[in-house]
Amino acid sequence: MQKGNIGVTTENIFPVIKKFLYSDHEIFLRELISNAVDATQKLKTLVSKGEYNGELGDLTVRVALGKDTITVSDRGIGLTAGEIDKYINQIAFSGANDFLEKYKEDANAIIGHFGLGFYSAFMVAKRVEIISKSWQEGATAVKWSCEGSPEFTLEETQKEDRGTDIVLYIDDECKEFLEESRITQLLKKYCSFLPVPIAFGKKKEWKEGKQVETGEDNVINETSPLWTRKPSELKDEDYQKFYRDLYPMSDDPLFWIHLNVDYPFHLTGVLYFPRVKSNVELNRNKIQLYCNQVYVTDTVEGIVPDFLTLLHGVLDSPDIPLNVSRSYLQSDSNVKKISTYITKKVSDRLLSIFKNDRAQFEEKWKDLKIFIHYGMLTQEDFYDRAKEFALFTDTEGKHYTLEEYKTLIKDGQTDKDGNLIYLYAQRKEEQYSYIEAARNKGYNVLLMDGQLDIAVVGLLEQKLEKSRFTRVDSDVIDNLIVKEEPQTEALEEGKREVLSTLFKSQLPKMEKTEFTVTAQPLGETASPVVVTQSEYMRRMKELADIQAGMAFYGEMPDMYNLVLNSDHRLVKSILAGQEEACADAIAPLQQELDGVNARHEELRKQAEGKKDGEVPQADKDEKQELEKRRDDLKQRKETVYADYASKNKVVRQLIDLALLQNGMLKGEALDNFVKRSVELI
Ligand code: ADP
Repeated sequence: MQKGNIGVTTENIFPVIKKFLYSDHEIFLRELISNAVDATQKLKTLVSKGEYNGELGDLTVRVALGKDTITVSDRGIGLTAGEIDKYINQIAFSGANDFLEKYKEDANAIIGHFGLGFYSAFMVAKRVEIISKSWQEGATAVKWSCEGSPEFTLEETQKEDRGTDIVLYIDDECKEFLEESRITQLLKKYCSFLPVPIAFGKKKEWKEGKQVETGEDNVINETSPLWTRKPSELKDEDYQKFYRDLYPMSDDPLFWIHLNVDYPFHLTGVLYFPRVKSNVELNRNKIQLYCNQVYVTDTVEGIVPDFLTLLHGVLDSPDIPLNVSRSYLQSDSNVKKISTYITKKVSDRLLSIFKNDRAQFEEKWKDLKIFIHYGMLTQEDFYDRAKEFALFTDTEGKHYTLEEYKTLIKDGQTDKDGNLIYLYAQRKEEQYSYIEAARNKGYNVLLMDGQLDIAVVGLLEQKLEKSRFTRVDSDVIDNLIVKEEPQTEALEEGKREVLSTLFKSQLPKMEKTEFTVTAQPLGETASPVVVTQSEYMRRMKELADIQAGMAFYGEMPDMYNLVLNSDHRLVKSILAGQEEACADAIAPLQQELDGVNARHEELRKQAEGKKDGEVPQADKDEKQELEKRRDDLKQRKETVYADYASKNKVVRQLIDLALLQNGMLKGEALDNFVKRSVELI
């Protein structure tokens, strides 16, 4: 028997391995089974090269549970004593040393991704044995044994079959790995698609109310999963079935893309566009990353562009470095190429569906657009491709490409400064009357009801020249697209102010909501009162919900404009009624106010051009007194108007109708409105 010391510099490496990889102990099984699969594949290679002419026999890799052992057996190339010395005693240990070196920089990056290989067995075992017989003729079987210290023993042993058994004597702290269900779960997770059959015990069946083993191997994997096969041999149903196997609870996918490259890197895989239910949190980490059919991780951030992490499916590449940190990954040139390649493939596929089957593309647009929008917003090169097939949908449900839409509205929706005005609504029902008004004017209105539409609107304004997006209720209809200077006669300022005071006094109080009341001539047939909301502030607030760093806007109140149509007969009659009803009360106040204003102006003129010190104190005091007086008089005037307005049911009714049209009349205000309406009828 040979005894020896494993050549490592670190005194005892195993406790370190155990500690650092605590959370990911389970990968030991993946590592051992991939070694077994590798050994089997190597044997097949020897056969194909004519170097091995013996019987291959059954090449199934077997996992077996004992009372306190797990054994992984293969019938691959096996190891000679010399090879064990070389590959296990020397090389593998230097690998573990590398691990420790790398750990210093970034522990998280390594855990679960670093191929610790064979030695990961010591994360769960107190003793590990390798019993192996090489494929070479006349090879003697050997047994290597090690208890997790740098000492090992290596001796000859008896073994019938070619291949290797790795026997793990499971640590007391890791008993969970002796449970059948836990092993089944791990095999499912890591080994489902390995290229060599993996058997875990025998298949079971129900007999007389009991589960009994059959004679048949319980093979847990699919050796040639869909992504390794040729697209030309696959049918739609195959892709759908594979999708259901991967995500049993999901609806059918919208589309899929089969990836297959050999140069300048190796990558295969299938990506699916899932059907997302609106308002459901988008699910990242649904793409599984494989390395030669061995499952590695479901975190693909850094490998595929951010927006594509929303897709589902499988990527398999031996060229993605896994034993490095994520930040390093992003600067790796292979990974960059892979990411660019995937983006290009995805956009090519979308473009080809769009071109070849536009009807299908339009039908799925509603589900697709969140991905496409996200890509356009975050990935410049994707935007450049997507602008060909990204669609606008109008309020009638018609779809247009950006170019088609531009042509559609060019004549009717260009303003006097040559800007193309895109009108949109976000909620078809709530903004109905504004949409109608715009359509009656011959405008087309887009429906922008997607989660990212507002952000896309901002992006398009940057990308498209001389183009502006404005929501249908952002202004009164005549001002949405200003084609010429306004010609109607505006009301004189004093009257505008009175109207505004009257209406302002009757606005119901609403939380975090502010109104500006203005009067404008909108034509006799237009609505008497309209609520509008300026595009800019509203959009900033909406963006604050989806973008970081805009919380400031999120905190601002909602700002609305209540626009009174001074051409409308109801508004006119309110103004006339006010003049009659308030004249007596207003006249003396106004007279006094005029006097105060005149004296104030006189004092101001006297002080003009003088330094502060040169103005007599008495003048300053008087001026201050006058200002107080003026405020007081204004206040009293406002009270008179408010008093009138409060008795004038039409004022309240008009306000409420305008609010109602916007879905803003709620609670007590709505109740009052209904009661008042009944009275008026
Ligand atoms: P890696 O697999 O990354 O090379 P490991 O530590 O897992 O590192 O294994 C070291 C070497 O031991 C392997 O490269 C292989 O030559 C050999 N080896 C491990 N397991 C087996 C096995 N089941 N059959 C044959 N050789 C094996």
